[in-house]
Amino acid sequence: MQTPLPDYLAHVIEACDIDNSGHLADYIPELANANPNRLALAMSTVDGEIYSVGDDDIEFTIQSMSKPFAYAYVLQQLGIETVLNKVGVEPSGEAFNEISLGNDRRPKNPMINSGAITTHSLIPIKDDLESAEILRQFMSALAGRELRFDDAVYESEVKTAYRNLSIGYMLRTVGILETDPVDIVNGYIRQCSILVTVKDLVRMGSVLANGGVDPKTGKRLLNRSVVRQVLSVMMSCGMYDAAGDWLSTVGIPAKSGVAGGILGVLPGQVSIAAFSPKLDEHGNSVRGIDILERLSRDMGLHLMEGTPSAQTIVQSHYRTGKDASLSVYVLRGVLKFTEAEMLLRILQAEPMDQSTIVIDLTQISIIHDVGKRMFLEGIDRLIDDGHTLLLVDPEQRLDHARTHKDRTLHVYQDIEDLIAQLKEAEK
Ligand code: GLN
Repeated sequence: MQTPLPDYLAHVIEACDIDNSGHLADYIPELANANPNRLALAMSTVDGEIYSVGDDDIEFTIQSMSKPFAYAYVLQQLGIETVLNKVGVEPSGEAFNEISLGNDRRPKNPMINSGAITTHSLIPIKDDLESAEILRQFMSALAGRELRFDDAVYESEVKTAYRNLSIGYMLRTVGILETDPVDIVNGYIRQCSILVTVKDLVRMGSVLANGGVDPKTGKRLLNRSVVRQVLSVMMSCGMYDAAGDWLSTVGIPAKSGVAGGILGVLPGQVSIAAFSPKLDEHGNSVRGIDILERLSRDMGLHLMEGTPSAQTIVQSHYRTGKDASLSVYVLRGVLKFTEAEMLLRILQAEPMDQSTIVIDLTQISIIHDVGKRMFLEGIDRLIDDGHTLLLVDPEQRLDHARTHKDRTLHVYQDIEDLIAQLKEAEK
């Protein structure tokens, strides 16, 4: 059996191929030379499996799709507060290159050029590397291969960067930029000239979809709070003045670039990248939009309908041992607020006695921080009631196995072994 996904993706690009509308971004002369017929689509699952079709090995410049990654980099280095002091998070409802500031004199968000140029200025320089080179290395780490700059596109954009320069001078005038605006704008343009394929983009996106951990290597590259901030801003501001339309029709946090790429990231599920150079009046790829609309519709990927409703995580509960003195709970799934609340409600029914309670966490896939805190609080209360608590947690995901009241928990590797031992002890 072969998974039907590649066939489905091929079918989608075939259906989108017929639309020839739109125009190439010609305000960057080099981009006007692009082959307008190019079309590519890639998808990465949250566990890092990549499917791709069409011109999936063709490199093109990342352009504005670099903005969420530059934002992620400075958030990770400086913390959210420091970055928020310089750049807001409000959708602008304006074109990407609008020469504008919010009422508080900060750029409205990091996805439009004024906010992205400001974000670039915040990159802490280290080891004498230039700011764009620091980002190239960071994005290469996310992509899992060495990315390179397109010097021709960079030179061509720098020569005609009047609009971005006027944004830079405006930001310098109000003190948002603190050094030479020309250097910063050039660095920002160089960041936009990094070359990627759709496969690189989905791999970079999979780190965001997976909460900051590279699914291929298991390495954490970004904090969870940084990822949440980046995806929120992509959702509200990523498609510029078309952001509201995008939220209601596609419902996937996304970012487009004027070379024709669109990257969408659905947290916990997939990342999707499309590439086709002809753009609509907002500067978004015409076929790219069509592709993401279709995928969202066909595969039920809209954020507002994609969240599975919380389910009880108690897979089974049984009593065993002499006089049914052992109460065993086998849990499965994700432990977040809603599931933890349901679990504690079930545990509430345990009679107040000296009995032993075994909780098996082996099949819990994710323990969210709030889930862990609520769980440990519940454990403390059960111990206060007189119970003995034994946990099966082979991956040891409960911090140091200590409760909030600093009690050491008894943690075991295997449920069968534990129950056999307990029964033996009863004899
Ligand atoms: N480098 C481009 C610019 O600043 C990026 C714009 C875009 O992709 N929307 O104009």
